[in-house]
This record gives sequence, structure tokens and C-alpha cells, in this order.
Amino acid sequence: MQMRCYRCSFSFAISRETLAAALASLTVTGNTHHIEYCPRCRTANKIDRQTIARFAPQPTEAELAAARAALESAEAEPEKPEPYRAAEPVGQADSKKKKHRRRRGSGAAEAAADD
Ligand SMILES: [Zn+2]
Repeated sequence: MQMRCYRCSFSFAISRETLAAALASLTVTGNTHHIEYCPRCRTANKIDRQTIARFAPQPTEAELAAARAALESAEAEPEKPEPYRAAEPVGQADSKKKKHRRRRGSGAAEAAADD
């Protein structure tokens, strides 16, 4: 899907995969808009759900599950730094957590081709 930044008028493409993931996310969260950042000026551009639904295929069970998992992990790990604590009142010592950081296939490469 082609979209144009409302701020700098830069036109950029959003892949089907991105749209499908966005639609799955909107389905899970109940949000009405998806935010896509302009690769040139980083302005947040809103795309409403109906527009996405026109271009994206219906999300599969796997995509919905991925969106739910992403939502849950976002809720479980709020993005604020832990304040320093002198003593940790934790019972179990080995609470290893592996963090998987997923790379999003947005148009970051296209932004590099800016003159
Ligand atoms: Zn822009």
C-alpha cells in the first residue's frame, strides 16, 4: 500500500506483511488506527483500520496469536527503567529472561536513500 506523509508529502510503500501485522494488532487491541512512521521525517501517520483492511488480507490465527503475544509482553514489561534498589527481596535466584527483539520490516533502508 502506498501512503503519503501528511507533513513532508513523502510517498512510501507499506508492505503487505506490515499491513497484515497491523490489522492483527488492531483486531487484538481494538484500536481504530495504526501508526506508521514516515521514513523521511519520522512523523507519525495514522492509518485507519478500514483503510488497512482494504489492502491487508484477513489476519490468520498465527498472526493474531503473534499480536496477542506482543500485546501481553508489552503489558508485562512497561518501558520504564527500574529504580535502583539496594536489596532485592526476591526468592528465586535464577529468573533468566531472554529478550527477543523482533526487527520490523519497515522502510528504514529507503530512508537512507535520502539526498
Ligand atoms: Zn514525512
